Amino acid sequence: MLDPQSQTNPRIIAVANQKGGVGKTTTTINLGAALAEAGLRVLIVDLDPQGNASTGLGVEPEARDFTTYDLLLDDVPLDQIVQATPHDNLSIIPATVDLSSADIELMSNEKRSFLLHDALRQHAMSALALDIILIDCPPSLSLLTVNAMVAAHSVLIPLQSEFFALEGLSQLMLTIREVRQTANPKLRIEGIVLTMVDARNNLSAQVEKDARDNLGDLVFQTRIPRNVRVSEAPSYALSVLSYDPNSKGAQAYRDLAREVMRKHTRAAA
Ligand code: ADP
Ligand code: MG
Repeated sequence: MLDPQSQTNPRIIAVANQKGGVGKTTTTINLGAALAEAGLRVLIVDLDPQGNASTGLGVEPEARDFTTYDLLLDDVPLDQIVQATPHDNLSIIPATVDLSSADIELMSNEKRSFLLHDALRQHAMSALALDIILIDCPPSLSLLTVNAMVAAHSVLIPLQSEFFALEGLSQLMLTIREVRQTANPKLRIEGIVLTMVDARNNLSAQVEKDARDNLGDLVFQTRIPRNVRVSEAPSYALSVLSYDPNSKGAQAYRDLAREVMRKHTRAAA
């Protein structure tokens, strides 16, 4: 069960979809904030060289002295890499564009798929007393994303409610299967969350129906509505939960957090 401040190892969830602009970063930040609001201790690992999660949580590029790059490839103490955010219980390992070269540097490394796995299981991690780690993946199925899937217990997939949404999913599922067959047999699918849902739009409704017909229980009950407050929040370096606590977007991410927490209670029972 996901007890606040539990002494057990944190649950690691990779937020992945090789398509850009589907809501990975938005979901990482706001699900992270909602879990933190519920009392869990959450760490976000920004694994995208674009560093949008870092910016969205107020870690300016000048303040990113140590980053995910160092976590993977250098010997920098963890407490120098992890940064606080404006939210209680929510910390982040930021990323910069340096991370894009990591992909190439990793290639020649014998442990290339396991670097994040090992980094997140280093002894110093336990001092952070984390309950959950969310990894914001880049929009590709690169070695970085593979590192996230090897490190994680599960993959959470944001699916944008638009016409070609389901098409890219088979490629993603194939990668998950490959990771299971090689490095991480226990990797699960946390769930698929529909993002940017527009209730008045027929296409949105059709995508949801297709997703639920084809993917069944894998699809979270919670849908994230298209909500302007969600898109405004990052420019104030806040989650939507702090920026506008009563907005539809904030409420949806709280619902998603409850679903995630329920799942783990069930899994542990
Ligand atoms: P990804 O990380 O998958 O590339 P983002 O999370 O950056 O995707 O989202 C892409 C864009 O869509 C961003 O500009 C973001 O603000 C916007 N967006 C994401 N979710 C919502 C939502 N629920 N309502 C409105 N805009 C959203
Ligand atoms: Mg992103």
